[in-house]
Amino acid sequence: MPALILNGTKIASEIRAEVAAEVKAMTAAGARPGLAVVLVGHNAASEVYVRGKVKACEEIGIYSEKHSPPETASTRELLKIVSDLNRRDNIDGILVQLPLPKQVDAQQVLLAVDPAKDVDGFHPMNVGFLSTQRPGLVPCTPAGIMEILKRSKIPIAGQEAVVVGRSDIVGKPTAMLLTNANATVTICHSKTRDLPGVCLRADILVAAIGRAGMITREFVKPGATVIDVGMNSITDRAEFERFFAGNAKREAAFQTKGSVLIGDVHPEVAEVAGAITPVPGGVGPLTIAMLMSNTVRAAKLRRGAAEFSRV
Ligand code: NAP
Repeated sequence: MPALILNGTKIASEIRAEVAAEVKAMTAAGARPGLAVVLVGHNAASEVYVRGKVKACEEIGIYSEKHSPPETASTRELLKIVSDLNRRDNIDGILVQLPLPKQVDAQQVLLAVDPAKDVDGFHPMNVGFLSTQRPGLVPCTPAGIMEILKRSKIPIAGQEAVVVGRSDIVGKPTAMLLTNANATVTICHSKTRDLPGVCLRADILVAAIGRAGMITREFVKPGATVIDVGMNSITDRAEFERFFAGNAKREAAFQTKGSVLIGDVHPEVAEVAGAITPVPGGVGPLTIAMLMSNTVRAAKLRRGAAEFSRV
């Protein structure tokens, strides 16, 4: 039986509607949540991401503003922008779009963001809150993965979960969230021995690798839930054929755009898995939805929770 397709676009729009309702109530009470995005220079991909984030704020009713220092900005200049935003009461979330130019000390800039406004959830204090199960801000993509699992009623407690990838942004926080939800979690990476053998144990397999179609059917236990975080662009015809030969819809997209998006999971896995997130339309849409949700959460935590007071 083909896998159940976990529709991330639909789940993201449910979350966005819920967040919009909260924003409406908060705005009516005089506490409209606000997000500031800092975009340095003119990285084309970053500009697209930031446009999407600002547009989502507008649709949901969150106040947003964009700061666009030039490509030549120094660490000191960025620290000044962050420090001003930290102080402003109408700004609940601060997002510094990565990557930053080479001359900038990115770690120093990210560390300067008030943890209570760190809607990306990258600050070590939020990492610590997550690992000790305290209220905090959780990175958006991992939080989105958990929403997909929970809202699709995929059992987590007691299940074997395998996360391939150990980045600070996706792999590690996803593994921590699954652990907190009582899964038995294994984290894999490029030095893991017998990766297919380890993955085969998974009831829930998360692929966050950045390698087109690497997870083939040999990695997947029949009936497992597969979450494909990867976003890889294919432009080569031979590679396209390897994954999508005979797929008329993808062929049309490839002809028109000269590229198609593929995850880290091979399309053939849909024949073995019990449930799977598509690419596009799986994890991707959740990332912006969770950024909106985090901004509202930050607004509430800043106004309410004493344990989240400034350090
Ligand atoms: P990353 O920082 O490059 O981390 C990749 C991880 O995969 C590393 O831990 C690496 O292991 C591991 N890896 C690489 N090759 C491997 C192999 N052959 N076998 C086993 N493990 C291997 O990437 P990331 O930021 O986590 O992103 C991962 C993917 O998710 C990318 O495709 C990215 O575009 C996508 N992504 C999507 C969203 C979304 O919204 N959908 C958000 C973020 C990222 P080592 O640690 O040993 O090097």
